[in-house]
This record gives sequence, structure tokens and C-alpha cells, in this order.
Amino acid sequence: MKLSLNAQILLAAVFGVAVGFFLFHLGPESSITVQTVYYCGIIGKIFVSLLKMILIPLVFTSITVGIANLRAHAQMQKVWRLSLLYYISTTALAVILGLFAVNLFKPGAHLQMAMFQDAINQPTLAESLTILQFIENFLANLFVNPIQAMANGMVLPTIMFALFLGIALIVAGDKAKTTLNLMNELFQLIMMIVNWIMKILPIGICALLIKLVATQDPSFFKSLGTFIAVVIGTTLFHGFITLPLLLITLGRFNLFTYYRGVSEALITAFSTSSSAATLPITTRCMEENLKVDKDVAGFVLPLGATINMDGTALYEAVAALFVANLAGIDLNLAQQCVVFFMAILASVGAPGIPSAGMVTMVMVLQSVGLPAEAIAILLPIDRLLDAVRTMVNVKGDTIGTIIVDRHTH
Ligand code: ASP
Repeated sequence: MKLSLNAQILLAAVFGVAVGFFLFHLGPESSITVQTVYYCGIIGKIFVSLLKMILIPLVFTSITVGIANLRAHAQMQKVWRLSLLYYISTTALAVILGLFAVNLFKPGAHLQMAMFQDAINQPTLAESLTILQFIENFLANLFVNPIQAMANGMVLPTIMFALFLGIALIVAGDKAKTTLNLMNELFQLIMMIVNWIMKILPIGICALLIKLVATQDPSFFKSLGTFIAVVIGTTLFHGFITLPLLLITLGRFNLFTYYRGVSEALITAFSTSSSAATLPITTRCMEENLKVDKDVAGFVLPLGATINMDGTALYEAVAALFVANLAGIDLNLAQQCVVFFMAILASVGAPGIPSAGMVTMVMVLQSVGLPAEAIAILLPIDRLLDAVRTMVNVKGDTIGTIIVDRHTH
């Protein structure tokens, strides 16, 4: 009997988590743990490299083709507007939910200052960015020589170039038929390679999860319990209550069909902690499993994977208030409004790679005068939280695609 890919992935995930826990209990020094984590690390790395290999060609062709073909049903403007409206409003909803929960549960308010002091004395990788510097960097990195951008795996500038090329293809019309055909064919070929990568998805997911669970740091879990619970609880609430409600009401879509169609993408997002690396799988799930219009998916998904991150925005807001609690600072309403806007900006600026939110976190902290060094406390627990928020980030993109698709056809 041949198991469906969905069933294989689910089994792989359960097996991976179980083995991970077993190794975690054996302890990090046990030779079984060391060796298994080592080999799983290699397998996981190869798997993520395969996803990254296909990422830039996929983003480039899918956006170009997506834009150029949107002309065909004269829906471009509507898709644009609806996507942006969806990205902004769902991200704002996520941050409001996070701020509400953190004010309610006040994580960190009773933690000892000493621990905070120890942690902020540790050196961190954090570089200080002011808001202006951040915006300047963000804009400067938007337009880059496309060859350089693609060679360096820079997703946002690649998207920008693809947008220009797609629009140029529309303006040129019949004169550029050959190029449009070429791009369409290239896109089909890349999706074929994505399908091959899908075949080894269960192995990659299993290896990544074993490593993730086996190498958690237990001491941090204990002391940061409430914070972790608030972040995971609210992120899951947004991902499994708010977003599905939008799917049912605005998208008029069956939840069961949805989950059956996207589960591969959600589990991949959880185990890779990267929206960008998951994009090939997300695209395949939406187009082949859920039969969403290819041009809409080709536009909304890659852009969403880069700028629409509900989980990240929520996390940045909650973490900023948590750090304020630890430092004994009470942020007033105006300051919380600043956190609200900065968290949204920071999530837009964070690329879809593991722990990207940690880097942009610095600007949220600094916007209300909190020490950037505090990310030293957040870093050790980021692996698990990153997995959860990335899953919700990807979920937001998939639901947005369905809603935009429903309202443009
Ligand atoms: N890992 C997240 C993502 O790829 C970004 C983040 O660090 O929040 O969606």
C-alpha cells in the first residue's frame, strides 16, 4: 500500500518529534544524540539547500508570469489592491491580538531582574538600527542589479525586477510574445523540479524536526515559561482562529479542504522556519491541491512570503513588551502605538529566513528606548518560536491567496 504524501509527511513529523524528545532526554552529551543530530543536520541542510536552489528561479518566473498573465483577465489592479489590503489588515490584527495578550498576562513582570542583567551583559550580534536607517536600508535594497540580487539570493529586489519585467511584458504586448512564452515554459519546468523535491519532503522534515527538538535549551524554557506560552498561544490563536474565520467568511472556503490542501506547506514551514524556503511547496499546494488561479498564486504568494508575516509582527510586539516588563519599564499607550507600527514595519522588512525577525527586532526595541542587547534573552528560545510563527506566516499567505482569488474571478 502506498501512503499519500500527506500521510507520509504527518508520520515523518510525528516520528521526528518523538525521536527528538528521546534524544533530548538522553542528554546533549550522549554519543547517540551527538551522532544523530550531526547526521540529521546534514540531511536537513541538503533539503533546505534544495529548496533554496529553486527559490530564486521560482520567485522570478512566477512573479513575471503572474503579472504578465494577469493582463489577460484585466484583474491586475484588483489583485494588487486586495493583496495589499489583506497583508496590512491581517498583520495589524495579529499585532493587536499580541498587544492585548501581553497586557493581560504581563509575562516577565515577575522574573528576576538579575537574570535580565546577566543576559544583557552578554555580547550579541545585534547591530543598532534607528528607524530612519532601517527605512533607508530597506529602500536601498529594493533596487539592485537583478543578476547580483539573484546570485546572492536577495528575494525582495528579485521581486522588484520581476514586477518591472512583468509590466514591460504587458506594455509590449504581442511584440514580446516569445519572451512571455519562454517565461511561461521556464515556470512550468521549475514547478516540475519542485515536484521532484516534494518526493523527499518527508525525509527532510523528519531530519529537521529531530534536530530542532533534540537541541532545545531546557533552562530557558523554565524561566521564560509565561512568555513562551503567551507567544505560542496568541500566534496559534491568530493562525487557527482568526485567519480561518477570514477564510470561511471572506473566502467562502471549506476548512477541511483547505487543511488537506496546505498541510504539506504548513509542516514544511514549521520544520524549516523559513517562509522563503517553503515557497516552492506553498506554490505547489495552492496550484495543484487547491486549484487556485496560477497567476494570482504566482503574484500573491511570493510577495506575501517576503512582506506578509503575521506571526513575526505579533512576536515582535509581544517580545518588545516582554523586554519592557523585564526591565521594569511600563510602556504607555503612545509607546505601545509606536511598538504597533514598528512591529508591522519590522515584519515587512524581515526576509523569510530563520530568525530574521530577531534582526529586525532591534529596531522595535530601540524605537521605545529598550536595550537592543535584550535579544540575548530571546535568541536561545527563538528556534521553537520561529517554527510556530513561520507556520502562521505561511498560513496567512495561503489564506490571502484564496481570498484574493475568490474576489477577482
Ligand atoms: N522565520 C520567519 C519566516 O521565514 C521570519 C522570522 O524570523 O520571523 O517567515
